Amino acid sequence: MSVSEFDLIRQFFADATASRADVLLGIGDDCALLQPPAGSGLAVSMDTLVEGRHFLPGTDPESLGHKALAVNLSDLAAMGAEPAWATLALTLPHADTAWLGAFVGGFATLAAEHGVQLVGGDTTRGPLTITVQVHGFVDPDAALKRDGGKAGDRLFLSGCIGDAGLALRRVQGAASPDADAAYLRERLDRPSPRVALGRLLAGRASAAIDVSDGLVADLGHICTASGTGARVDLDRLPLSPAVAAGCERGDWQPALAGGDDYELLFSVAPGQVESLLAHCHAAGEQIKEIGCLVADSGIVLVYPDGRTSEEIPHGFDHFRT
Ligand code: ADP
Ligand code: MG
Repeated sequence: MSVSEFDLIRQFFADATASRADVLLGIGDDCALLQPPAGSGLAVSMDTLVEGRHFLPGTDPESLGHKALAVNLSDLAAMGAEPAWATLALTLPHADTAWLGAFVGGFATLAAEHGVQLVGGDTTRGPLTITVQVHGFVDPDAALKRDGGKAGDRLFLSGCIGDAGLALRRVQGAASPDADAAYLRERLDRPSPRVALGRLLAGRASAAIDVSDGLVADLGHICTASGTGARVDLDRLPLSPAVAAGCERGDWQPALAGGDDYELLFSVAPGQVESLLAHCHAAGEQIKEIGCLVADSGIVLVYPDGRTSEEIPHGFDHFRT
């Protein structure tokens, strides 16, 4: 891009987010200089969104700014970390000030909610691609890894599951808008990273992951890392009315295999469950028990009619793969 275009873009980012005391030097120099708290572990995660692969061409830039940061904050949440800093690599086909203003607006609003400061990045010309890296703090001994689950641990899920997958199916199909359309689209475009819940779970849950690939796939990651299997009682899944209506017709695909919900899936040792539930209740965090980890490998799905299956229903092609 030309020098003036770079100046223009830099201006959008320079003071986009709040200033933190632990940022000794933010945007504008060759590097940012950051001061992590003494004794804390630094949790670092990065995710890329590519137009046409992770989001539809023409997606509203404000939502994109939100989602690019949200999917990264969700990884910090799944680790039990407290978000602090972010960097942003933007590849843009052209310098469009209206687009940039809206994108930064979505990014900055979510950053402010979580006290995150944008401390640097890179800007290049090319097909629209957004990469965000986030940095957070966590006590390494309390961090929520995937490998700590044990047979007998109980399995919980935050929020509700399947909305983003159902929304994506509707966007791709020709479904006419109905009463659920706005709710579902919001769940797909503007996920809420469960940061406060993640921090509450740190040191309390035995394993955790954020659901980005689908409930069964992400549960599989916990099971593989932990050396366990799992049982999921499908009648206990937390579902919105739209997803529940599909399940009643036998369409379990959004709930079990739809991605992009960014809820937390976590296991808890039986002796910790009561105190965890009390903490969640006090903090107003919505969680639901959906099954347990078991010794035998594989994921057993128990349907409401008592039928069991290890097959995950498929039904439509994912836009994201
Ligand atoms: P350099 O050539 O030293 O990499 P750049 O022109 O790429 O410098 O960036 C100048 C400053 O602007 C740096 O502090 C960089 O971190 C910041 N910056 C560039 N692009 C972005 C962006 N997309 N988001 C946040 N900060 C950015
Ligand atoms: Mg650079």
